[in-house]
Amino acid sequence: MIVVMKTGTPEHEIHEVIKRIEEQGLIAHPIFGAERTVVGVVGSSFRQDLADMLSSVEAVESVIPVSKKYKLASREFHPVSTTFKVGDVVIGGEEVVVMAGPCSVENEEQIVTTARAVKASGARILRGGAFKPRTSPYQFRGMGEDGLKLLATARAETGLPVITEVLTPADVELVAQYADILQIGARNMQNFLLLEECGRSNKPVLLKRGISATIEEWLLAAEYILNAGNKEVMLCERGIRGYDTMTRNIFDLSAVPLVKKLSHLPVIADPSHATGKWYLVEPMAMASIACGADGLIIEVHPNPDHALSDGPQSLTLENFAKLMPKVEKIAVATERHVLPRLSQAR
Ligand code: PEP
Ligand code: MN
Repeated sequence: MIVVMKTGTPEHEIHEVIKRIEEQGLIAHPIFGAERTVVGVVGSSFRQDLADMLSSVEAVESVIPVSKKYKLASREFHPVSTTFKVGDVVIGGEEVVVMAGPCSVENEEQIVTTARAVKASGARILRGGAFKPRTSPYQFRGMGEDGLKLLATARAETGLPVITEVLTPADVELVAQYADILQIGARNMQNFLLLEECGRSNKPVLLKRGISATIEEWLLAAEYILNAGNKEVMLCERGIRGYDTMTRNIFDLSAVPLVKKLSHLPVIADPSHATGKWYLVEPMAMASIACGADGLIIEVHPNPDHALSDGPQSLTLENFAKLMPKVEKIAVATERHVLPRLSQAR
């Protein structure tokens, strides 16, 4: 349930309400707004006795049950869209943030060359996998910690924050030492122990939609991270499995505006994994922005034909450079922008 406090309620009265909630063995999540404060209550299903008790407190305007299974992730709970910073990049704000880089970190030259090129084209965050979830155990499974070190080198060279995947709860601490954003991959969306461990980390998390996850399951997965204490979560639509093998996945773009309606969390779109084909990435990146995505994550490789993973869906450095002014036009048409504003120091 959500407890809406009256406008201008002094802080000590809000804390009094929090205390009453906690006395019931429940968890209170106050959200201090510019106008008014609401206190979200989680830990049990709706309790009429508690609602009645809180409604009788003078500073309480109303008590509203939350109809959804997910609470902290819901817009009912948190009407204002969440924004947070990664370095000097604001996620969920006016800028549509572009994250770009190779599927896998392969060597220093590859990652540093890519980082420099995507930065020059306007990308704000560098992606690159070091721990790779692969369908077959015989495929390249990433460089591990050496890959993380190369990401740190590329960050030092370019100033771009880095996003990289973490595969297991045991690796969260290590990956968080190098990464600016932890990526939870589609195959791990319901690895609940991993979700909770990332929830205990102080790094923002990008949670990919599972290969056959419903939107409710995806939001409940985000709920695990939020409930463990990490409020800096973004959701990533990366396509879901269909019957047609012509594309790698079905890019469920309707999920983007739908999830933005259901949740306050930023939504990122991944046209690379969604389509599996490099020539579909540009039109689907444009479509992603048109339907309201807060960011894009795009695979870019200096030599896709020789990539150790996901070459067929990777853009060349040149094609990524050509894509950026096109997505900028769509962003401007939706009153946002992709390319950093001239006023922003870079
Ligand atoms: C990736 O980003 O390279 C990746 C493995 O993505 P997904 O989890 O969406 O398949
Ligand atoms: Mn990939």
